[in-house]
Amino acid sequence: MSNKALIIVDYSFDFIDDSGKLTCGKPGQEIETFITQRIKNYHNQQEIFFLMDLHYENDKFHPESKLFPNHNIHQTPGRELYGEVGRLYNSIKDQMNVHYLDKTRYDSFYGTPLDSLLRERQINDIEIVGVCTDICILHTAVSAYNLGYNITIPIRGVASFNQDGHQWALSHFKNSLGAKVED
Ligand code: ZN
Repeated sequence: MSNKALIIVDYSFDFIDDSGKLTCGKPGQEIETFITQRIKNYHNQQEIFFLMDLHYENDKFHPESKLFPNHNIHQTPGRELYGEVGRLYNSIKDQMNVHYLDKTRYDSFYGTPLDSLLRERQINDIEIVGVCTDICILHTAVSAYNLGYNITIPIRGVASFNQDGHQWALSHFKNSLGAKVED
């Protein structure tokens, strides 16, 4: 079997719950079951990476502070993995093939060991799920493309608060990044 990895981006309470600080709302909640299924599909034999946005309260030097309200703040409940995905993570997190990485930018590769960890494991094929399709998924997919990975993005595994942005990003993944964008 070729080595593959599942990358779950920013599936936190703040990004998904109705009361989250920067929520995708219903579209984000609707991908919960699909992501859970994908994790179950991978967790026995392949690598899983949870990437999670990290911010500090009132960090005026962070570029997002001019763009968005405070979200995913260090050591707050808003930064915890949401719902069933969080419960499943808690049950598998001690496995050697399950990884949790903090990220501080949209791009899951920027300033994180993700690329090294994938290369050490000879993984060339990655599947990306989570939110938001047109922000963190987009920036992560662009880096993956530049780094030479084969990318799969399941339509039912990504969501955004912006439906136009969501649709545009899906076509960009397919037409400009050569990603497999599938149902
Ligand atoms: Zn952020």
